[in-house]
Amino acid sequence: MTRRNNSLLSKTRYIAGMQCPRYLWVIANARERIPQPDAGTQFAFDQGHEVGELAKRLFPGGVDIPSEDFAASLRQSRELLSDRVPLFEAAFMNGGKYARVDILQPTGQSDWNIIEVKSSTKVKDVHYRDVAFQKHVCQQAGISIDRCFLAHVNNQYVRNGEILPDEFFDIVDITDEVATLSAATCEHAQELLSTMCSPTCPEAIVGTHCNDPYDCPLREECWDFLPDDNVFSLYRFGSAAYTLLDRGIFSIADLPQEFPLTREQQIQRNCLVDGAIHVEPTAIRSFLRSLEYPVHYLDFETFSTAIPLFDGIRPYQQVPFQFSLHVVQQPGDTPKQYAFLGDATCDPRRELSAALRAAIGSEGCIVAYSKSFEIGVLHALGSAFPEYEVWAEGVCDRMVDLLVPFRGFNYYNPSQRGSASLKRVLPALTGEGYDGLAISDGSLAGLAYLSCGAGMSAEEIQQVRANLLEYCGLDTSGMIQIVEKLTELSHSS
Ligand code: SF4
Repeated sequence: MTRRNNSLLSKTRYIAGMQCPRYLWVIANARERIPQPDAGTQFAFDQGHEVGELAKRLFPGGVDIPSEDFAASLRQSRELLSDRVPLFEAAFMNGGKYARVDILQPTGQSDWNIIEVKSSTKVKDVHYRDVAFQKHVCQQAGISIDRCFLAHVNNQYVRNGEILPDEFFDIVDITDEVATLSAATCEHAQELLSTMCSPTCPEAIVGTHCNDPYDCPLREECWDFLPDDNVFSLYRFGSAAYTLLDRGIFSIADLPQEFPLTREQQIQRNCLVDGAIHVEPTAIRSFLRSLEYPVHYLDFETFSTAIPLFDGIRPYQQVPFQFSLHVVQQPGDTPKQYAFLGDATCDPRRELSAALRAAIGSEGCIVAYSKSFEIGVLHALGSAFPEYEVWAEGVCDRMVDLLVPFRGFNYYNPSQRGSASLKRVLPALTGEGYDGLAISDGSLAGLAYLSCGAGMSAEEIQQVRANLLEYCGLDTSGMIQIVEKLTELSHSS
């Protein structure tokens, strides 16, 4: 064995190289340039690992091949082939290419099936490439592969007691799709081996591949040529920004006057160029008239996991664990806050529903920022608990979306950088924001809630809970401040 591990083309490297040669080169030659995964990415990795462990239960009698010792895992995999039992993480290597197969299942006299396990809820194109590489390495190493399967999460599965792997996974035969990639896989693998060994890092050629099929962790490095107000922040412009990049136009301020823009995009450009704030008092007044007192400002926090934690929940379902509700009885009144935060040890939904029903009353409107999310949560609560169904529908009927005036650019501040999100609008309008909070966005809130428990002291849990209450409370008190500012602006001429 003359090749060093870091000069091997693994399946992860193969997928990275197919996405971008520069990314592969950096993985193999300058790994220190790759930033550590953020909390959300690490959580996704961990979820994938849990799903992988669960899939092993589909194949009783299977043997785990430990990964700590590289040479030993190759040797054990080879030795265990003769036992004709399912192998988990079997490792094979040939010609500088290396693959570990999630599940290798014996079939017939001497053949094997590959079962790749994914925590996604459907088969994606990248999965065919992934399995084609594994099959190529196995065959080069003398393993006869019969069929290839992908085991992915069945998002219609509803937990009822212990998780049932047979129902949790959908297993899809992808043999034909993988077969069509065989010849190309061999060629690509050779090219990527050369890329890895090249003494120079390939040039950064940015494009849609930078987040397809995965978000490349080198974005900060490769995209740092763009100014802050770049064409990718143009409101609802999407991947059309690449055509501008190709023309050498990086900044919104550099867009030619004749370039066709929507009304919102024109406002965005004008505000940027003039350094001005755009206000439409008539439209703002019209929005404010839709607020019926008492006004309730509502925000939910949710978590979602691949493997449902509680009965009655599907994979990746958004599970509400917290709400903040600020109620303003009449304009100018001091708001009263109601809050609920589950204790992370049991399904919080029924208790949360009861607490919200008690606090929200039956009169006045309910203001949410991007109300489709809150409505989705309420519908799910109504279907999970029939006793709350009518009430939840009634709450949805009273909802008003505070996003509306910002999505319509009735107010726009250049510091929003093309975004109408609460996280951009609140600081732009009020100077208040989420900087400095221990929890600064909804996905971190979900992760913080899930972290409460194992290995944490009572004080640490208390701190996380205080952080969660502060964060969610700012979402609803922030909405009050936004309405107050809009009220002031509506009086301007
Ligand atoms: S950010 Fe884009 S160009 Fe840079 S390495 Fe990643 S995929 Fe390649």
